[in-house]
Amino acid sequence: MNRFCPKCGTEQGPFVDGFCMKCFLEDNRLLIVPGRLELRRCKRCGRVLINRKWVSDSADNITSYILGKIKWADMEEKALDIELKRLQNGIRVFLNVSGRFKGVSLSARYETFICYKNQLCNACLKLSSGYHEAVVQIRHSGSLQSTVLSSVKKILESMQSKDPLARIVKTFERKNGLDMLIGSNKSAKLLVKELKKRFNASVKRTSSLIGVTKDGKRKVKYTYLVRLS
Ligand SMILES: [Zn+2]
Ligand SMILES: [Zn+2]
Repeated sequence: MNRFCPKCGTEQGPFVDGFCMKCFLEDNRLLIVPGRLELRRCKRCGRVLINRKWVSDSADNITSYILGKIKWADMEEKALDIELKRLQNGIRVFLNVSGRFKGVSLSARYETFICYKNQLCNACLKLSSGYHEAVVQIRHSGSLQSTVLSSVKKILESMQSKDPLARIVKTFERKNGLDMLIGSNKSAKLLVKELKKRFNASVKRTSSLIGVTKDGKRKVKYTYLVRLS
């Protein structure tokens, strides 16, 4: 029996559903992915909204986001390799598929684009309105200012992937020091602990009542006075 592709006429197999591999893949897809996806991204911290959570835009998170958007053809075996090319306004995504379909080994490459939709995440929205849970006051006798400030920034940065409120909201220059408004008390506490260790500082914590929550809990703002020796 002479087999040939009814679309292009080639006699070169293998054939899938009667068509040569090239013609089959022109009219059929091994997987379906939308040509364009929209992903909300925070313009301040760069996190993205996936499954209603603000998470880092790591390759792992982006990949699982894409996996949630694709539909597979009914393949007997399948493998997928995802390539991400990051651009300023989004991510170009290449999907390299291989596997078996109706007994024939096939491979194909598809493409989609994740377009960023810029907005502010919950945490950055809070911070941009001046929200802060703690004040860290640093006092010293010499001129340590820039060293201390860059240490503070680095320490807070190391916490930001877990605590997006680990940020300086505002800084005030004071005589012999600095006052810093810090987004979360959790990060302020860890920051102070680290400063104590690094700069051999003494720490005094005070609190003031700033209100009561709807369910009757006291809302407190902490102030940490850090004296560097
Ligand atoms: Zn053909
Ligand atoms: Zn943000």
